[in-house]
Amino acid sequence: SERTFIMVKPDGVQRGLVGEVLRRFEQRGYKLVALKMIHPPRALLESHYEEHKGKKFYDPLLAYIGSGPVVAMVWEGLNVITVGRKMLGATDPAKSDPGTLRGDYGIVTGRNIVHGSDSESAAKREIDLWFRPDEVS
Ligand code: ATP
Repeated sequence: SERTFIMVKPDGVQRGLVGEVLRRFEQRGYKLVALKMIHPPRALLESHYEEHKGKKFYDPLLAYIGSGPVVAMVWEGLNVITVGRKMLGATDPAKSDPGTLRGDYGIVTGRNIVHGSDSESAAKREIDLWFRPDEVS
């Protein structure tokens, strides 16, 4: 089995969708390994989104994710990286199928409620970035 990093973004927290995200992953059968609420400092977001540095949406993206507390989580289970991404839906909620988190609750890419690691290497990198080793052991 594998682990992934899932984050409820500030809009998801403000809209009261933390429970919904937790409920869906729990009901699917995944194991919650770690969870914390954090108002992410700028340096953490710069590391998290380093692949987007220089893009047009980079500054608005960091302002958005830094606009309030987020809920960071680690989930474990068979194929949780791929299945977790499916449960989130497409990056653009307009293209997300109903039944996905973004397809049920989102409208625009710039406020798309949740984040999920998109590969094994990203999952490892993001879990190491957001959690101390003793928090995920
Ligand atoms: P996430 O990393 O949040 O799970 P993703 O992997 O589906 O999203 P990425 O392409 O990695 O999508 O983009 C990261 C985030 O940057 C998106 O979730 C979205 O919040 C924001 N973003 C991406 N593209 C745009 C865009 N064109 N305009 C505004 N925001 C964008």
